[in-house]
Amino acid sequence: MPSFVISDKCDGCKALDKTACQHICPNDLMVLNKEINKAYNRAPEMCWECYSCVKICPTQAIEVRGYADFMPMGGVVQPLRGTDSIMWSVRFRNKQIKRFKFPIRTTPEGSAEPDAGWETGSVDLNSPLLRTEPGSLGSSELKKL
Ligand code: SF4
Ligand code: SF4
Repeated sequence: MPSFVISDKCDGCKALDKTACQHICPNDLMVLNKEINKAYNRAPEMCWECYSCVKICPTQAIEVRGYADFMPMGGVVQPLRGTDSIMWSVRFRNKQIKRFKFPIRTTPEGSAEPDAGWETGSVDLNSPLLRTEPGSLGSSELKKL
């Protein structure tokens, strides 16, 4: 089931030009109604339930009712992001709540190196090598392929 916004919780990202959910949605589905300062999903049938908007919403105003293999039937799963972890709260249909916290980083926030020290590899678009290969595979022989 696609994402939907609980309007009571949505503050329109405090009237920023582009809201967090608009910024993150890979399908460009989220829209802000500027008259009431509430966001909504304009094409629910196009939502692939990726949870990006759910995770980024600062007020936890977006929910997705996922499939039963991932979450309990009739339940709701809500993430709360921290700088080094994410807490998933599962609310069961009998109102029971369970929380699970997982680390999401192995390095301090802001310290990631985009190239991680790897050579950028071949710039030849016809090359069969992937971007960090052959270095990331520990072999230089692949260059000859
Ligand atoms: Fe509303 Fe959350 Fe979207 Fe911000 S990210 S506009 S608070 S639903
Ligand atoms: Fe967009 Fe993913 Fe949110 Fe659906 S769940 S509205 S595809 S960000």
